[in-house]
Amino acid sequence: MSDASPPFLPFALPEIGDDEIAEVVDTLRSGWVTTGPKARRFEADFAAFLGDPGLHCVAVNSATAGLHLALEALGIAPGDEVITTTHTFTATAEVVRYLGADVKLVDVDPATLNIDPAAVEAAITPRTKALIPVHYAGLAADMPALLAVARRHGLKVVEDAAHALPTTCGGALVGTLASDATVFSFYANKTITTGEGGMLVTRDAALAKRAQVMRLHGMNRDAFDRFTAKVPSWYYEIVAPGFKYNLTDIAAALGLHQLKKAHAFRERRAAIAARYDAAFADLPVLRPPQPRAGDLHAWHLYVLRLADGAPCTRDELVERLFAAGIGCSVHYIPLHLHPYWRERYALTPAMFPHSQHAYERMLSLPIYTRMDDADVERVAAAVRTALG
Ligand SMILES: *Cc1c(COP(=O)(O)O)cnc(C)c1O
Repeated sequence: MSDASPPFLPFALPEIGDDEIAEVVDTLRSGWVTTGPKARRFEADFAAFLGDPGLHCVAVNSATAGLHLALEALGIAPGDEVITTTHTFTATAEVVRYLGADVKLVDVDPATLNIDPAAVEAAITPRTKALIPVHYAGLAADMPALLAVARRHGLKVVEDAAHALPTTCGGALVGTLASDATVFSFYANKTITTGEGGMLVTRDAALAKRAQVMRLHGMNRDAFDRFTAKVPSWYYEIVAPGFKYNLTDIAAALGLHQLKKAHAFRERRAAIAARYDAAFADLPVLRPPQPRAGDLHAWHLYVLRLADGAPCTRDELVERLFAAGIGCSVHYIPLHLHPYWRERYALTPAMFPHSQHAYERMLSLPIYTRMDDADVERVAAAVRTALG
């Protein structure tokens, strides 16, 4: 490699500013480093961000934890089935197995790669209790159709909104829709980050209360209450064998400032997506779907699909981009291809033709706020060189 070769451009990088750093330092100096006032404030700020006074926000240490808590609070148990998309990260489905219930994977709408409402309805059995849609890449799933299916069959709905901050569906922010719970992720590569973290959002006060208790060992009061309220500071009751899913104040300190930037971050990601769209208009590719008019796409991912007749395969394109110093990824290796899911449920690619077809042709390009216009042009030029 010559000295002139540009530095490696990673697939994803968080944008952590001076405000976040100062808030973390303040937390460290405060002496309160686990769940406390900043986690509380982050929950209140998150509810204000969603702008709906009927919502309860429960901060947790990952979206995986939040999904687990939501399903636990809804009573999902052995013998139950929960339907979700094969085209997701394993966390969406593994939480169902934590509770001893079974996962029914279904195929996606080939245009959006979001879960197909007709496939959901066809997969329902008398054992089906719940549905977990994923807002893939940051584009809202077809929630009106999915909520209608759920209502017709008495299913609970927990949205996996790990990609969807901020995303709107019919003008309403994901998190404020008519599902039972919505779970956001603040993992390092998500649209806002706390390093590790998540938020469970629900209108159901009983669900929120159960999640609050179960996120900290099944204690009927959390640590902050114990040290500030009037009841004896040492007193608590264990009402269930709970989990250790609380968000630390160190992490929440990051979230307080990341949340303030969420809309600006989304705008930058949307601008990068628009540049890519323009650069790839004449290539043998399928560009990502656009949101409906007036709706917001969070643009967590920019997923390009090679058209039939493209001059190279997906694997070759990924190799060429890496050779040009550009990181990229694939979202996702569908669950039906992973040994655990494939073997447990005897799954074959033919059962999921749309997800499989997309998987074989797709790659995710870098899309994050720390990319400048020159970075974006560099990625676009490398893709054009490989496919032009
Ligand atoms: C990242 C991700 C998760 C898990 O989020 P964590 O906060 O890392 O637990 C779940 N579902 C999807 C679709 C994701 O992309």
